[in-house]
Amino acid sequence: MKVYFLGTGTSQGIPIIGSDHPVCLSPDIKDKRLRVSALVSWDDHCYVMDCGPDFRQQMLAADCRKLDGILFTHEHADHTAGLDDIRPFNFRQGPMPIYAHKRVIESLQRRFDYIFETENRYPGAPSVLVNEVINHSGFEIGGKKVIPINVWHADLQVFGYRIDDFAYLTDVKTVDPEEAEKLKGVKVLVINALRIEPHISHFNLEEALDFIKFIQPEKAYLTHISHHMGFHEAVQQTLPENVFLAYDNLEIEI
Ligand SMILES: [Zn+2]
Repeated sequence: MKVYFLGTGTSQGIPIIGSDHPVCLSPDIKDKRLRVSALVSWDDHCYVMDCGPDFRQQMLAADCRKLDGILFTHEHADHTAGLDDIRPFNFRQGPMPIYAHKRVIESLQRRFDYIFETENRYPGAPSVLVNEVINHSGFEIGGKKVIPINVWHADLQVFGYRIDDFAYLTDVKTVDPEEAEKLKGVKVLVINALRIEPHISHFNLEEALDFIKFIQPEKAYLTHISHHMGFHEAVQQTLPENVFLAYDNLEIEI
């Protein structure tokens, strides 16, 4: 299985428009972060985690020509705003399978009403095949079982996803013990770490490191990073040897 980090930034991305913060001005390519997303592929199957406002640019960067589905973590705009840009895939492949919590599907139906329109559809409008994700109910994609992990983004429910020995979780602030149990034995864990300072709805670095220690993956990659985290290179040097700050266009094999 391959995981390609399409975006590793928090909701505004880095650099932030108009910002003079040193991290926003950094010339290091690893300090430039699009909105959070990852491409997960095996054999000839390819799925994306979320579909944020940078989706088009990310699909071009990854040279992604075929996409078998989108797994949504939650409905916030930095995870969903790019949904209109599935059209090139629709034209080549047909409707795009999407996987999400019922609440997220309802949110997409409100915000992208034209996508879900059944009568008098605009010709060429994006099209989706809706798959509802239910907690404690694994589902199959591309011959692999996906285990949803129910976590909390302040008081908003969010799904993370485990596929074999890989798990992808973002926008997490708290994880109930029975859900953390579902992550035991993962080799590679992707988990959000916003910044050094605490935040009401995201793990900060210390919370993410504590969570990694608890789960004990072989390797962990941090994502959904704010410019307040600091420079990539400086922060990486402070991390345990099995923990890495993810960066845009990083590809790992599991
Ligand atoms: Zn987010």
